[in-house]
Amino acid sequence: MNIDSSPIAAIATAPGRGGIGVVRASGKNLKPLIAALFGATALQPRHATYIPFKQADGALIDQGIAIWFKGPHSYTGEDVLELQGHGGPIVLQLLLARVLEAGAETGLRLAEPGEFTRRAYLNDKLDLAQAEAVADLIDASTEAAAKSASQSLSGAFSKTVNALVDGVTGLRMLVEATLDFPEEEIDFLEKSDARGQLAGIVQALEQVFKQASQGALLREGLNVVLVGQPNVGKSSLLNALAGTDVAIVTPIAGTTRDKVTETIQIEGIPLNIIDTAGIRAIDDGVDVVERIGIERTWGEVGKADVILHLLDADHGPSRADEGIVAAFPPGVPVLRIWNKIDLSGHKPGVDPMEDATHVYLSAHEHIGIDLLRAELLRIAGWQQTGESLYLARERHLIALKNAGAHLERAGEHAAQNDQSLDLFAEELRLAQVQLSSITGAFSSDDLLGVIFSRFCIGK
Ligand code: GDP
Ligand code: ZN
Repeated sequence: MNIDSSPIAAIATAPGRGGIGVVRASGKNLKPLIAALFGATALQPRHATYIPFKQADGALIDQGIAIWFKGPHSYTGEDVLELQGHGGPIVLQLLLARVLEAGAETGLRLAEPGEFTRRAYLNDKLDLAQAEAVADLIDASTEAAAKSASQSLSGAFSKTVNALVDGVTGLRMLVEATLDFPEEEIDFLEKSDARGQLAGIVQALEQVFKQASQGALLREGLNVVLVGQPNVGKSSLLNALAGTDVAIVTPIAGTTRDKVTETIQIEGIPLNIIDTAGIRAIDDGVDVVERIGIERTWGEVGKADVILHLLDADHGPSRADEGIVAAFPPGVPVLRIWNKIDLSGHKPGVDPMEDATHVYLSAHEHIGIDLLRAELLRIAGWQQTGESLYLARERHLIALKNAGAHLERAGEHAAQNDQSLDLFAEELRLAQVQLSSITGAFSSDDLLGVIFSRFCIGK
């Protein structure tokens, strides 16, 4: 693996204005940089020094705190210099430019996205799952997601995965020792209780998978498409679902003209709601330009986890609704929501029918909202376990799943109790490779590139 330890620098705090802002540099040896900026003896490792930040000609940029973390006792494992100035974009740009200039002779350059964390990984400060958790903690959109991310960052997820790896490794060693003494193969499975050990590992793996897939839900959330004619109560329903929770609605202008995404949360699970106010079925009265827009919107609908089709329980479905229902993409579950039951006189309830599950509620009167919430959680596959969850990524889930499949095949070979001990060993090896990829013991440069390029610069 190619480790580039040339010094790097970037603004580490979010763009915009704030009380303070931080410019961070990292490199094998930052002494020349520190000497150029402040003089050779100005900073002591791990001491906060209040100091003027000056241009090369002595003009003052800002006054702030400088901290030098001498490697390996730093985030990246290299020398790290943090300059905390006032958090304005121009101040920080000037400060960064000054740092780049002062370090030019030592090859200092602007950091790439995620490069600080990538170095922390390459210098064994974090494993890969922890490095991913850094990004997930920063990007967390709910409190529950943040909690699970910091759980992963602290190493709890890695520790669990490593325990699985240890289990598989131990079993492999046993088997491979036996392979050298073929006459004992038959007895081996009995004597060592290899099957029992395997069953224990499989059970532990299933538990981890459960916690990880629930955690993944906190990360990804549920993609919900809201469809309904004007005035059926879409906005009212969103507000009722969001309840009094904090972090309600963040309107994001969508890519298409009339698509709006809002995120609300139910029990900490983000619901990404796409309101397709303008959607209609394509018919002869649609021109080419409009057709493209409508097709794109229907494309979104096809990718949703669930469609909420809102209807007025008092007035019944309109002609437009019938057209829309006919155009629903197959395979996406539909909840048909009859709103305004306070006017129609229906009872609140959930009715699983062949065409869709029907839910009767009143958004405005907050009747039956809990039923809808529970139904959404059920579709999401959410089970509140009380156990700590790991904010796993798709990549982790796939690796866990693959490892499980190899263990299952190993179990089949063990069950045959014949000459298939080498196949048993091979499946164990493959399971181990899958598990190890989670924490990065066997990761390719390509994978690292994909993971770290999704960070912002400065992380
Ligand atoms: P949207 O156009 O689909 O977003 O509909 P709105 O949420 O803006 O609601 C349209 C109108 O219907 C508003 O006057 C709401 O107060 C009313 N409304 C929404 N839900 C209910 C309900 O459950 N019962 C009654 N009686 N009125 C409702
Ligand atoms: Zn509305």
